[in-house]
Amino acid sequence: RALVPSPPTERSQGGFIAADYDHALDSLRETSGNARKAIAALEARYRDETGTPSLKIKHNKVLGYFIEVPAKHGDKLMAADSGFTHRQTMAGAVRFNSIGLHEEATRIAEAGAHAVAAEEAHFETLVGEVIEARKAIAATAAALARIDVAAALAERAVEGDWSRPEMRDEPCLEIVGGRHPVVEAALARSGERFVANDCTLAQANRLWLIGGPNMGGKSTFLRQNALILMLAQAGSYVPANSARVGLADRLFSRVGASDNLARGRSTFMVEMVETAAILSQATERSFVILDEVGRGTSTYDGMALAWAVVEAVHEQLQSRCLFATHYHELSRLAETCDALSLHHVRAREWKGDLVLLHELATGAADRSYGLSVAKLAGVPAPVIKRAKAVLDKLEKGREQTGGLGAGLGDLPLFAVTAQAEEARPDPLREAIEQIDVDALSPREALDTLYALQTTARETDA
Ligand code: ADP
Repeated sequence: RALVPSPPTERSQGGFIAADYDHALDSLRETSGNARKAIAALEARYRDETGTPSLKIKHNKVLGYFIEVPAKHGDKLMAADSGFTHRQTMAGAVRFNSIGLHEEATRIAEAGAHAVAAEEAHFETLVGEVIEARKAIAATAAALARIDVAAALAERAVEGDWSRPEMRDEPCLEIVGGRHPVVEAALARSGERFVANDCTLAQANRLWLIGGPNMGGKSTFLRQNALILMLAQAGSYVPANSARVGLADRLFSRVGASDNLARGRSTFMVEMVETAAILSQATERSFVILDEVGRGTSTYDGMALAWAVVEAVHEQLQSRCLFATHYHELSRLAETCDALSLHHVRAREWKGDLVLLHELATGAADRSYGLSVAKLAGVPAPVIKRAKAVLDKLEKGREQTGGLGAGLGDLPLFAVTAQAEEARPDPLREAIEQIDVDALSPREALDTLYALQTTARETDA
């Protein structure tokens, strides 16, 4: 099949073949360039000869090249022996031709036409040669693409200290010191260290339930293991100290609140559509990551769904699966599902602040730290205090009546204002707390004292 592409639109004007490629073309261009110079010289000569400095040689599409003088000088050129031929009279100007101008204009037109023809001929030849070599060009492009992918992966492997995975037939996933290359790179840019984590899934321990606070690193852990499996199956080294990867028939992920609201689907709908697809397609050879399934709906609905999904993955699909959840209640599934084990991302409270360790440990998460994460994110102290009061009531109500909302009725609303008063930030106090007294020179100590006094006066005002 002859594929003749449509020529570039500028082609009819020429100018797309470089100089020095074809000497005949170069000399045609020179001819037309010389003729333009000759026209400029004619203009100067005619001004002299007619004594009309305002005489100009112009060009337009209808007339081509012509000589133009203001109307009051028209008569001089009209004279029979002037050598000029009248062409057009305008409101303020008169236009003429001359034999000299006609000759130069013809030279330009002819050389131009020949040059364009020469360029077109080169273009046709080039297209022919490309078509002729199309198989080799396509094969070269494909080979380069392969080299590009392999070279990029090799570069990553060397720079990221990746290791060569061991591929297995049995459905295992044993990763020591696994990392998420993208999160790792992002952290490195801000001088932070990525905490490597292990993952050991096997037939008899194929489902990990992972709890722990938000921002603790659950999603990252899920994704990094999926990524490692995918890279391994693509023939790449992987971001881990070592990896033993059992071939998967498919990789399924239900991760992140990828909002499809624009397409008319709520977040929860998307979550369920994707979960449904996984439940109907995954096999005991698949690897599945499920991140906070059930989050998109009310607590009880969500928890019930998450519970049933875990059971289905464990009992029916029997896929290798990492399931991140913030529902503590799900940890009771470990009593009935023997291939399921409990894990959590570690966190500590230190001087009233939450420290996320991004480190995986076995066992259920002790608590959710939701309020601590909110504090970490900068939710104002009065709101946190109020939430704490609501939480206490909720938990008490649940213990006493079994109802989640019970006990909220007698939580006095004025408490919010009272607490807000109490917790109003005191800039002076904050400034004093932040002073590192031991690190101050006497001079700095004095400066600091002056600064504190200024703050105190401003606060009073
Ligand atoms: P979660 O799913 O538990 O809410 P994410 O996986 O989204 O938490 O992680 C939140 C943030 O914590 C990440 O954006 C990253 O900055 C940091 N983080 C996650 N995992 C690690 C890790 N292993 N080491 C260091 N930082 C991490």
